Amino acid sequence: MKSDIDKENKPVCDFCRRQKLTAIYKVPTSNLGVSVCLCLNCGLAQSISKQKIIKNRTVSTSSDAGWGNIRQGKSLRFKKIRNEMDNEIDFTGLKRILDIGSNRGDFVKWIREKNTSSEITAVEPDKTLVGGYKNISNVLLITDRFEDIALPAVHFDFIYCLHTLEHAHSARQMLEKIYDCLSPSGFCLLEVPDLEYTSNKFIVEEFFIDKHTFHFTRRILTGFLDFLGFEILKTIEKDNFNITLILKKKAVNSSAQPSFKTSVKLINQTRKLIADYKKRFRSNIKKLPEIGHKLNELQRRQKIVIWGAGRIFDALVRYGKLKTDRIDYLIDTYLSVFPGQVHGIKVVEHGILRQFSPDAAVILATSSVEEIQKTLLSYGIWKIIKFQDLMEI
Ligand SMILES: [Zn+2]
Repeated sequence: MKSDIDKENKPVCDFCRRQKLTAIYKVPTSNLGVSVCLCLNCGLAQSISKQKIIKNRTVSTSSDAGWGNIRQGKSLRFKKIRNEMDNEIDFTGLKRILDIGSNRGDFVKWIREKNTSSEITAVEPDKTLVGGYKNISNVLLITDRFEDIALPAVHFDFIYCLHTLEHAHSARQMLEKIYDCLSPSGFCLLEVPDLEYTSNKFIVEEFFIDKHTFHFTRRILTGFLDFLGFEILKTIEKDNFNITLILKKKAVNSSAQPSFKTSVKLINQTRKLIADYKKRFRSNIKKLPEIGHKLNELQRRQKIVIWGAGRIFDALVRYGKLKTDRIDYLIDTYLSVFPGQVHGIKVVEHGILRQFSPDAAVILATSSVEEIQKTLLSYGIWKIIKFQDLMEI
């Protein structure tokens, strides 16, 4: 968490270095007393904490700000983008590759299969995750934070930085370092959560979790990347969950300005986005007891499976008083692997539906609802209740 306070005890914006931060949202469930601040000069939103960072690796599927350490998000996202990334870049010819926040090694293992001769540098501070790839040939594993290590300049042909920038001590420094390390013909894959996700009509999960320091809209981030000398070659996937970009160094950095600044209009858009989120989030949480009650009643009469053991499920149990002892099966492809159980219930894979036929299935998901629905239909389950439909009522 950023606690960059200058001499006069005023926080400094990470992007533009100006003392123009103003607190616009105090995260109600933060364990660190976090306020989300908006820079009135450049529009960057960043979390400022009163407390120092506590190195906490507690696993939590909470819908509150304490969510984190499941460490499945990167695997999930890697699987979603790998084909499109592969279509854009010819990995077979690349010699030096850097993975920032290599996590469980999905990208490292994939690239090693595609290109057996490349040198891969993998940076991951969490030693407990690296067992699956630390001994692979030609992989230099550095178990430290990217910000704290020295790397050769103008060196890498490809840099992979997926859901890491938002965790940085300084997003600016991380991006500057990426720029320095990247070869003139090299590419960088950058992905971060999209702040626009807060406009999700049915949001019941705290977007501003304690683990994230920086919150980017597409326009502020791409504006800043341009300012630093990056060219955006491609936007991989346009959804409002993530911003996924393939970057390159500009041939001539002619647009370099002395300092980074954005328009008042853009800054006000971000301010409105967060103000609207604050209201909507609060009123959505208030709807949860009614939905919890409805599902509890349904479970008394029918055999039910719930698909989605993540943050919506957590919100329904804690704020909606959804009874967990009546659920026949709780399905989740990712959380069944780790942590394996949520609110004391074992999380299983959807294969269970080969032996158990429920009367109805409830989908508690946001990004993969259609995919889940298709899978349920393939098992012959027609009565499907989506969380979004429950919220509409
Ligand atoms: Zn700023």
